[in-house]
Amino acid sequence: MSKQRKAVALISGGLDSMLAAKTVMAQGVHVEGINFYTGFCVEGHTHAIREKAKPKRNNALWVAEQLGIKLHIVDVIEDYKKVLINPKHGYGAHLNPCLDCKIFMVNKAKQWLAENDFDFIITGEVIGQRPMSQRKNTMPIIAKQSGADDLLLRPLCAKNLPETLPEREGWIDREKLHDITGRSRKPQMAMAEQFGFDDYSQPAGGCCFLVDKFYSSKLLDLWQAQGSKDYELDDVMLLKVGRHIRPAANFKLIVAREEGEGRFLQGYKKDYVSLISVSHNGPLVLLDGEASAEDLYLAARITARFGQGRDAEQVDVAIVERDGLERVLTVLPLPQAEIPKAWYI
Ligand code: SF4
Repeated sequence: MSKQRKAVALISGGLDSMLAAKTVMAQGVHVEGINFYTGFCVEGHTHAIREKAKPKRNNALWVAEQLGIKLHIVDVIEDYKKVLINPKHGYGAHLNPCLDCKIFMVNKAKQWLAENDFDFIITGEVIGQRPMSQRKNTMPIIAKQSGADDLLLRPLCAKNLPETLPEREGWIDREKLHDITGRSRKPQMAMAEQFGFDDYSQPAGGCCFLVDKFYSSKLLDLWQAQGSKDYELDDVMLLKVGRHIRPAANFKLIVAREEGEGRFLQGYKKDYVSLISVSHNGPLVLLDGEASAEDLYLAARITARFGQGRDAEQVDVAIVERDGLERVLTVLPLPQAEIPKAWYI
């Protein structure tokens, strides 16, 4: 009896990786999924706390459940910093280092393969689908620089690529693989229908916040403010929450946009000076940086502006230090017209 081959599929939570895994499973291969958590993943994090947002699910887990496979979620937060801070192949339209990111993830999958005695790797890549990482000329770069070489099978476009080891060895029938190219989603939608998948996630630009223009500009602002491209997971999380306003180079404010965000920011009160209007209802505001007395006064006026006292002549704003020490400033809310657009990050 021939040995049952085992493949690990990179599962982002989108349709392509789901179809790629299913295509290989349909050929009798044992498939397990792997999902890398970089900290920037769109899946199941703080955007899910917005009260008006649709209920969110972790799409990678959901895909695994739909496929009936085991999913390994691997924390790569620390290792990923090198990729994001200094990407050899540069950034995409925003701070997304997609090509280096793919090389990094396939390399991690290759290590996993060796440690777990699996035979090959599957990704849902499609030639021409993404401007940076999914082009015909970047496919061999990913295979080579990740060290996966011909252990990397892309079932959705394999017929347009050189044969891989699983095909040559007969573990996989190349004829039953696909030749999808380009940005159209129609072939994938047709395939989803054939497989009976009628509910799947279609992330617009990619699978992480780094492809988001607004998120990237907040990360860039953080790097500029601290004078280096480093970051911690807390920074990454806080960039996903609230309205970010930088009135001066030495400090910025994070203003909760609704109650869910306010409760989330409460968890950071020991790490940041916080402000909240006490005479009127208003959002919790975190102050990130070092602020002078004058800066605090301005921060209190901005805090008052975002509360229900915005049109009042006086608003009492509590300023709470990291150690819990509290004092109250009475301020005139800063009129909207006096908050320059350039302050909004
Ligand atoms: S969108 Fe984000 S997670 Fe996806 S390849 Fe690009 S950088 Fe990596």
